[in-house]
Amino acid sequence: MLETPPYKLITAEDLFSVITKNPSLYHLDLMRQAYDFASRAHKGQKRKTGEDYIHHPLAVSYRLASMHFDEATVIAGLLHDVPEDTNISLNDIQRNFGLEVANLVDGVTKLGKLRYQGVDRYAENLRKMFISMAEDVRVLFIKFIDRIHNLTTLSILPPDKQKRIASESLQIYAQIAHRLGIREIRTEMEDLAFSYLLPTEYVETKKLFEERMPLANKNVSEAAEQLQEHLKKEKVPFISIQSRVKHLFALYQKLQRREIDRIYDIVALRVITKTEGDCYRTLGSIHGLWRPFPDRLKDFIAIPKPNGYQSIHTTVFMPNGSPLECQIRTEEMHENAEFGIAAHFIYKHKGGESTKHLEWLKRLQEWQKEVGDNDKFLEAIKMDFFEERIFVFTPRGDAIDLPLGATPLDFAYHIHSEVGNGCVGSYINQVLKPLQTPLKNGDVVEIVVDKNRKHPSEEWLKFTKTHQAQDHIKTALNKEKRSLIERLFSTKK
Ligand code: MN
Repeated sequence: MLETPPYKLITAEDLFSVITKNPSLYHLDLMRQAYDFASRAHKGQKRKTGEDYIHHPLAVSYRLASMHFDEATVIAGLLHDVPEDTNISLNDIQRNFGLEVANLVDGVTKLGKLRYQGVDRYAENLRKMFISMAEDVRVLFIKFIDRIHNLTTLSILPPDKQKRIASESLQIYAQIAHRLGIREIRTEMEDLAFSYLLPTEYVETKKLFEERMPLANKNVSEAAEQLQEHLKKEKVPFISIQSRVKHLFALYQKLQRREIDRIYDIVALRVITKTEGDCYRTLGSIHGLWRPFPDRLKDFIAIPKPNGYQSIHTTVFMPNGSPLECQIRTEEMHENAEFGIAAHFIYKHKGGESTKHLEWLKRLQEWQKEVGDNDKFLEAIKMDFFEERIFVFTPRGDAIDLPLGATPLDFAYHIHSEVGNGCVGSYINQVLKPLQTPLKNGDVVEIVVDKNRKHPSEEWLKFTKTHQAQDHIKTALNKEKRSLIERLFSTKK
């Protein structure tokens, strides 16, 4: 739930109680040294809210340690405002804490104190964030936590400034957190920003939520008990049954489309299992116990969401007639859903790289280098990044991530520019379909290539959604025009 001021002041004691609980992750001596270093550097400085400045880096570091981030990240959290706000230089940090910490602090400093000033600034901020994300994604996590803490103390600023920072948090930070699949950060950021941006709507949503919560909670905990017995009886192994509460901004968004009485997942039931097979066994068992809603089963295990989210969702009727949403996932899927790409760093010890995220980052980084000016970058970002995306498959089963509305041509150019240029037809789910057919999530796409066809048609620009495809088509068309002109000139001679 949203913490409203007066918020809890994080002290050195709070930080060290987390540190000492995790001796395998953190060296107490080094952490103490980092704390002393930061508190000397910020000595005498105050925050606008009146407390000593050190409480801000302490809060950031404390949160990172609570999420079990690695030692360098937690130290960088303590030092993140030192080069910007004090006389101590980055070199001093490097001398005392090494290059890794210094690089992280430098990354956060470069992201800068974001001041939202119109569209250019917006694009520039996005660009900065992508660059740092590509260099070391941990920089972004420190910045996210920094921003969340700044949002909790935003009420001290004048309302117009509050709104500006809140809207930037919602439009940039929360979107990126969502894209990276970090639910914990995204939901907290969204609810904080929501409270400043739309205060009336926030209060109304909160009131509605609080009215509905007691009954919803009661239903879910009764259902959890019933299900637990049932699973035990049927010998279906599971780790735990929990409840998941919808965050206020998500509820507000859903209320724009649906009445409160038709929102079934304010509180949902969540079953965590050990294996994927146990997920499906649990699903079968749930459908045996309670009657499922038709058409409400979503299998995001077989077909993950574009940000990598995996889980099974089903809605069932309770004996009293009220609907209940159940989510079923493995422990690993759960960690990924809560922490997304961060899970890779937090749960490093368990191995298992989330390659999907890393590959996406790599592509974004390459593409970011190609796109020169900010306006174009922003336009492209809006198009390819913020819009909803779909997953389609090659005949061999490789998943390809495309924007909503993409066609077989986008698919072909994603594979290779020559596949795109030589494309003469496409099979969608083994049926021959026109090249301008919009693809749907889960489609299997096969491209028919004619090796003799080497150039795209100008029409194709209308049937493509990705910048990648359009750039290739334009390049090929220009080349064709050039060779035509050359041929004309050479015949004239
Ligand atoms: Mn800060």
